[in-house]
Amino acid sequence: MLCERTALCEAVGAMVPVLQQQAAADDAAGDFPGDSFHRLRQLGLLRAPLPETLGGLGLGDGATGAAALLRLLALLGEASLPVARLYEAHVNALQLICRYGNESLIRRCAADAVAGALFALWVTDPPEGALTMHSEGDGYGLVGAKAFCSGAGTATRALVTAATPGGTQMLIISVDPGTRVLPSPIKLSGMRAATTGSMDLTGIHVPADALLGETGDYLREPVFSAGAWRSAAAALGGLKALVALHRDEIRRRGRAQDPHQQARFGALLIAYETARLWMDQAALRGCLEDDSAAAIVAYVNLARLAVESACLDAMRLSQRSLGLGAFIAGHPAERICRDLATYLRQPAPDETLVKAASHYFHAPLPGPASATAA
Ligand SMILES: Cc1cc2nc3c(=O)[nH]c(=O)nc-3n(C[C@H](O)[C@H](O)[C@H](O)COP(=O)(O)OP(=O)(O)OC[C@H]3O[C@@H](n4cnc5c(N)ncnc54)[C@H](O)[C@@H]3O)c2cc1C
Repeated sequence: MLCERTALCEAVGAMVPVLQQQAAADDAAGDFPGDSFHRLRQLGLLRAPLPETLGGLGLGDGATGAAALLRLLALLGEASLPVARLYEAHVNALQLICRYGNESLIRRCAADAVAGALFALWVTDPPEGALTMHSEGDGYGLVGAKAFCSGAGTATRALVTAATPGGTQMLIISVDPGTRVLPSPIKLSGMRAATTGSMDLTGIHVPADALLGETGDYLREPVFSAGAWRSAAAALGGLKALVALHRDEIRRRGRAQDPHQQARFGALLIAYETARLWMDQAALRGCLEDDSAAAIVAYVNLARLAVESACLDAMRLSQRSLGLGAFIAGHPAERICRDLATYLRQPAPDETLVKAASHYFHAPLPGPASATAA
């Protein structure tokens, strides 16, 4: 298993330059990264998050599974933040299905993933017309929409949340490609290739056995908040791409001896390495779940914000060093900064910080996860 995970990471690593080229084309066209996902599917990436018994590599299982998932998400982020974002949602959906699903739902979804289906995770409600469900025949009917749906029009399976009188319920739905995407004037400036749109899910009939878990399970901690480590891992990859690009360009311009450029590059390296070290620990804590829910969530919350802060610092430093060149459309730094700035807008950053701070006022200070403490 360890060898197979390592081989997968190496295969994805070898593919990074090709995926980076494709990322530029997909961004320019605003297209879903179909070619990249075709390549990744052929490597077995879409089934890799499943447990071995279901045809996967158990990404995220145990310390070595956590390290492999971290490495893969960071590699994908380095290659293309939209690809990493789409894959992160796929991993999240499959992990929730394996955690909360009944056996037949798990088997069906696993078979779909093994066959190459991309799962999306659509859990954000629009300001009006949030998704609700009601009894309908032998199952449930859906009314409403979901907002900010990455993979809209392409992902054929999705984990969605619907409001019920008893709380939030997770469901697994199937969607035909190219259907149900609402025309929307809203366009994100970055992450264009994640094809994030609104989905009209009214009229979908969901069989009773497609309900995932109980009401309230989606928000259950530590899984709900600690999952943020995966998005931060993808952002870490984007940060690495920016640092490498920065170094190459300053050298090419013959400015690597300038003390100001050196000072800024030094600060950039500190930001990157700080984020990387936080993520090593956050991935372990998020995957091992060997501490109290409150402790895991607090640590991952801090890690998420540390990565956000490192990325924001890096963009400022890099734009100062590269100058106007970093703002020319088509320059990779322009795209990476645009994607990174957009992707960093994750939910409730203020609450995340103060909740983590409140935790550590009354708990031992942050330290290594138990798997690395010895
Ligand atoms: C590229 C991209 C792809 C995405 N894809 C998906 C997807 O596939 N599926 C999906 O479900 N979602 C998706 N999302 C949406 C995502 O899940 C979040 O909804 C979104 O990122 C929240 O961003 P926000 O900045 O609006 O957060 P907010 O939480 O609204 O934060 C904005 C600001 O308001 C503050 N704030 C928040 N709440 C309060 C409050 N109550 N009072 C005062 N201040 C407050 C925050 O601290 C922050 O300063 C995607 C987002 C991005 C960027």
